[in-house]
This record gives sequence, structure tokens and C-alpha cells, in this order.
Amino acid sequence: MNYLSTRGHPDRKRFCEILLEGLAPDGGLYLPEHYPQVDTATLAKWRELPYAELAFEILSLYIDDIPPADLKAICAKTYTAEVFGSDEIVPLRELEDGVYLEALSNGPTLAFKDMAMQLLGNLFEYELARRGAELNILGATSGDTGSAAEYAMRGKKGVRVFMTSPDGRMSPFQQAQMFSLQDQNIHNIAISGVFDDCQDIVKAVSNDLGFKRKYRIGTVNSINWARLLAQVVYYFAGYFQATASNDKPVSFTVPSGNFGNVCAGHVARMMGLPIQTLVVATNENDVLDEFFRTGIYRVRAAADTHETSSPSMDISKASNFERFVFDLVGRDAGKLRSLFVDDLGRQGRFDLSADPAFRQAAERFGFKSSRSTHADRLATIRDTDKRFATLVDPHTADGLKAAREHLAPGVPMVVLETALPIKFAATLVEALGHEPARPARFEGIEALPKRVVKLPADAEAVKAYIAQNCD
Ligand SMILES: *Cc1c(COP(=O)(O)O)cnc(C)c1O
Repeated sequence: MNYLSTRGHPDRKRFCEILLEGLAPDGGLYLPEHYPQVDTATLAKWRELPYAELAFEILSLYIDDIPPADLKAICAKTYTAEVFGSDEIVPLRELEDGVYLEALSNGPTLAFKDMAMQLLGNLFEYELARRGAELNILGATSGDTGSAAEYAMRGKKGVRVFMTSPDGRMSPFQQAQMFSLQDQNIHNIAISGVFDDCQDIVKAVSNDLGFKRKYRIGTVNSINWARLLAQVVYYFAGYFQATASNDKPVSFTVPSGNFGNVCAGHVARMMGLPIQTLVVATNENDVLDEFFRTGIYRVRAAADTHETSSPSMDISKASNFERFVFDLVGRDAGKLRSLFVDDLGRQGRFDLSADPAFRQAAERFGFKSSRSTHADRLATIRDTDKRFATLVDPHTADGLKAAREHLAPGVPMVVLETALPIKFAATLVEALGHEPARPARFEGIEALPKRVVKLPADAEAVKAYIAQNCD
């Protein structure tokens, strides 16, 4: 399988070449040259497989530069009941007639990002050992991504993590999750500033090409193709659990921010998994809902990006969206460039409302969308507790609300549970008046010793810290 850039760069790459890279050299995102097709006979075979073996089968269609036995071992080591809490890995439960919750949040950091990041950690360690190379991952986080990356990379040979976060702005639980890690290869850097300052620092360091090369700086952000690919697997696993045979359609609702999770659903659908509808659920930061309603994609300025109670969906633009638009415009890289480089670059928006391609977003690709507010979130959390004795986190609540707006008779609707409520305890307390239960392994983590340095919002200070802590 070869990979191309959405912006038309002539080079073609193999999986392990793009594994350690971010954007393509022309600023585009990597996608496979085609989506492998899965027929009903294959689906029938896969239906019986344990999760790790299903992951191996799907990954094998996209990865041909790792020997199969090695890839199989990597999948087996990643998706275990010890790490993800159950043999099903992503157990499905019916909440009410036709509405299901797929649990993706029982990994080490209690958010769905573990599903991909745990695999990425093992793939990185494997590939770096094979090359005899090292990698220093530099990231910025406001919560879920940073902890998922650190728990995936802790103790891994050849990898160090330098994770910046805005000092004092994460929830106490999220801070404790990250700062309590004592592994020598994990470095927490609390920046005096806000999340945007952290992101600016990461950009500034990455733009210093000399420094980047000398210190082998890499990233693990959501545009990484391997992360997206890992997420394709749980759409299949969810489908098999929601149906008894492979001729039945299923719909999914996905709490969305950077469009990584739901883009994996798009890939699964393109492979032939019988998905009827993909519902994109957004919060007040409704860039994506606006597009699917109107055909206009308008990125927001920092000042127009709201701080909400589903913070992992607080985005100003959706970094994976370009992948879907590439398919939407018939994989025409020239057209893609005119939208993302010319229109978006100059005016901060593009408009497909009059383009026949836009109608296909729903008709051909199955996309629909909804938007939620803080009040919706609280109401859904209360209602789900009262009627089903089930606690959901604010992001999953956004999903549930959206799902109910797009139900179709006879078609199971699977809502992806993207985090456990304990991660966002303050909102749960606001809705219910009490804290959600905490998994035993997280009892008392706020009191553990913290490993973190504080630095000013200054890229030079971060560079100096990285230089001191390499070797
Ligand atoms: C990251 C995250 C999301 C958004 O996922 P995308 O892939 O960026 O769309 C939603 N919910 C939670 C809890 C998250 O951590």
C-alpha cells in the first residue's frame, strides 16, 4: 500500500515512512492511494475474531512493510484485557431501544485516545529499534492527548516525550494523571500561559529545522495516519456487536473535535462496512456542524473559540477534515488546494454550498451533524443517570443528544463513548450534585509526587530544556 498527500505532491510513501512524520512535505495529509474493499465473506470471517486479531487483519491491509508475524505480535501486545479492562476491549451496551454505547474509554487514561496511542507507542518502539534511531516527541495538550501520549510512550526505548501544558489550567485529575508519572523518558512542562501559547511553542520549535533535525523532534498529533488507522478497528468491532449478520446497516454518532475519530468511521465505511449514517456531534464550537448544514467551512479565530464543558471538542479548525474533503471532491488535489490553500489561507473559509459535491456529503458519504450546548450536556447527563443508571461524560453526552436527532427505525445507533465521567468530575457534580466513581487505580493520585518543570511561554526556554535532557 502506498500513501499520497491530499495536496498532490508526486511522492508516494510506505506506511513506516509516514509513521514518524506529521504533514506531507506540501502541507497536505497522508491518505492511502485507495481504500481496500472488504466483502461479505471477509466480514463473516472477521465477526468471530478477538479484537487484537481483528486489528491485525485490518492493519495488514494498510501496512506491508512490517513482517506479518511482527505486526501480529504488536497488536497482541497492545490490545489486552489488562490494558483495556475487558476481553471485548470495546464492549457495547444497549442503553435504550436501538441506542448503544460503545466503550472506548477503559484504557490507561480513560479516554478513547488510548485506543490509537497505545498502538502508536508499540509501533514507534518497533520502528525506532529497527532503524537504530531515537525520537523526541514534542507536544501541546489541554488534557486528553498529552496523558494518552505519555502513558503510551512511558518506558519505551528510543522515545522521549516533552509535553507542554498550560500551567494550572487542566483539571486536577488530568494534571495528576500526567505529573505523577515518574518515568525518566517523560517530561512534563507547565507553561505560564494558555493552550495557544503551548501550541505556538511547538510550532516555533518545529519550524527551527536545524534544531528539529539535531534533536530528532517528532509529534503524535491527531493527523498521524497510524492513529487514524488504529481507530478504524473499533468501528468494525462495534458493528459486529450491534448486529447478528453482515447485511444489517448500523449508524454511529461521534463526539468530534479535530475530525480524527469520525474520519476513521468514514474510512471504515469506504472499505465497505455497512454504515448508514455518521453523525458528527459538536459542542458550541460548531465549525463542523456548520459545514454539514450549510456547505460553508469557516475556521474560527482564537477569540471566537469557546471554552466549554466538553473541552476536548473545543477547536477552531478541524485538522483532519482535509482528508474527508479530499474524498468529497473526488480526490482532485487541485480542487483541494484551491479550497484549503487559496480560500482558507486567504479568507479563513471556503464555500461548497453551490457545489454538487456538497450534497454528496450526506447522500454518498452518509454524514449528518448536530450541535449541543452546556445546558444540553447537563440535561443529558441527568437524564441518562435517571433513566438508565448510567453516568456519561460531557463529550459522550454531546454524542447521545446528537444521536437521538438522527435515529432511523430498525437501524442500531452506536454512540462512541469518548471518555469516562471521572475525567470531567466538575461538570458531573454540576449536573448531579455528586462526583462519579473513580476506578481503583486512580484513588488518591492527586496526592502523589509530581514530576513537572515550569517554564515561561518562550520557545527558546523549551529548546534549552530539551537540549539539556537529551542523552
Ligand atoms: C479528543 C477527544 C474528542 C475529539 O476527537 P477528534 O478525533 O478530535 O474528533 C472527543 N472527546 C474526547 C473525550 C476526546 O478526548
